[in-house]
Parts: sequence; structure tokens; C-alpha cells
Amino acid sequence: MNDEQLLRYARHIMLPDIDIDGQEKLLAATVLIIGMGGLGSPVSLYLAASGIGHLTLVDFDEVDLSNLQRQVVHRTASIGQSKVESASQLLQEINPETRIRALDERLTLERLAEEVSQADVVVDCTDNFEARFAINDACLLAGKPLVSGAAVRMEGQLMVVDPRLPQSACYRCLYADAPEIEINCAETGIAAPVVGTIGTLQAMEVLKLIAGFGEPLVGYLLTYDARYTDWRKLKLPKNPGCPACGEQQA
Ligand SMILES: [Zn+2]
Repeated sequence: MNDEQLLRYARHIMLPDIDIDGQEKLLAATVLIIGMGGLGSPVSLYLAASGIGHLTLVDFDEVDLSNLQRQVVHRTASIGQSKVESASQLLQEINPETRIRALDERLTLERLAEEVSQADVVVDCTDNFEARFAINDACLLAGKPLVSGAAVRMEGQLMVVDPRLPQSACYRCLYADAPEIEINCAETGIAAPVVGTIGTLQAMEVLKLIAGFGEPLVGYLLTYDARYTDWRKLKLPKNPGCPACGEQQA
């Protein structure tokens, strides 16, 4: 690390859990962030500022006026621009050292597998079950840790899937099938700081997984109800009959 990096990351380096070693791991890491909306905004802002060396951003959408209430990586001047381009600009201003790949595309399963295989950690910031299941399955197949967050109305949830650990439950252990009615914030609304809270927790789990301190939220589901400031950390056992990670899967 050069002198400028020692100064930029000084508040991390003074933490015994991170130190120079941990910061160097962050600088060497590649993180794939899928979805540059309400969750992807805080995730990418904190990961770029924290010194993650390589960020791959994926989204096929453009910035819309109704996004700006919570998608804090985009600005009013970016309306109509692709979300990955809009986000890249702000992230590079925050940390010019971060190498950013901006993928303005809807990933096919094949492309998803390619991108997951190149990442050290995958962060699911999407807003639909189809994408969440596909990302879960790709991470299990590639043996890559996944930090999954979700938020709707005044509620949020967080879990970490680490296929390298035998006790790790996966997203399909939690939801066997996609519900018939998809709940998303376009129909139900979302309180802005709730996505900020969950996204910030996702970024923290990424740092833990890469720098290797503490205990990532594997085998648990964290839920947050903002109305009552109610936090719950529930044990999430692995489902032996899970179609993705269960015993049938060799
Ligand atoms: Zn499972």
C-alpha cells in the first residue's frame, strides 16, 4: 500500500479485525453487485469507499425520477442514463482507485454463471424472486458466497449463503417456490432509509467475508421492522430436501 492508501484507509487499518492485511484483501477483491437500485446504491457506495479493488455493477435499467427517493447513488442529472453508468460516475468520484466494470445488461443464466465465477463475493440487490433464485443457484454451483438483502414497505431482511460451509442454508431453503404474487416496491412502496439500512448491512457482510473477521450471517435470517425498530436474528437451518443445496444435490 502506498502512503495515500495508508491515509485513505487509516480508520480501517487501525481496527485490529481489519489491519493492513485485511485492507489489502479488500483492495485485491472483486465483488459482483447485481441490481443498482435501492440496495445496490448503499452497497456500492460503501464498498467503493471501503477500498474494494474491483466492483462489477449489473443493471439493465435507466434512472427514473421515482428512483431518486431512495437510490442514493443516482442524481437528478442522471435521469434517463443507464443506472450502471450513473453509479460508476459517482463511485469513481468517491474513490478513483476502484476498478469498475459497468454491465448494462440483463444477465442470461450463462452470463450470470460467468460473472459469478469471476467474483470473490456476490451481492444480490435485485427485486424479484426469479433473479434471486437464479443468483442463489449460480453461487451454489460456483461455490461463491452470496450476500442477499431485500426490503419492501417498512421491512427488510438479510442473509448470507456461503456454500463453502456445510451448515449454510441457501435462499431456496428459505423460499422453496416463488410466491404467486410478487411483492415489489413499485406496487407497495418502500421507506427510503430501510433500503439504506439493509444495503449498508450487506456491505458490512461483504467486508467480513473478504477480510475474514467476525462471523458472517450464515445460517441466520435477520429481519428488520422499521415501524417498531424491531430486529430479529432467526436461525435458518439448512433444509435437507432443498432443491438447490439439499442432500439430493451431489
Ligand atoms: Zn438450500
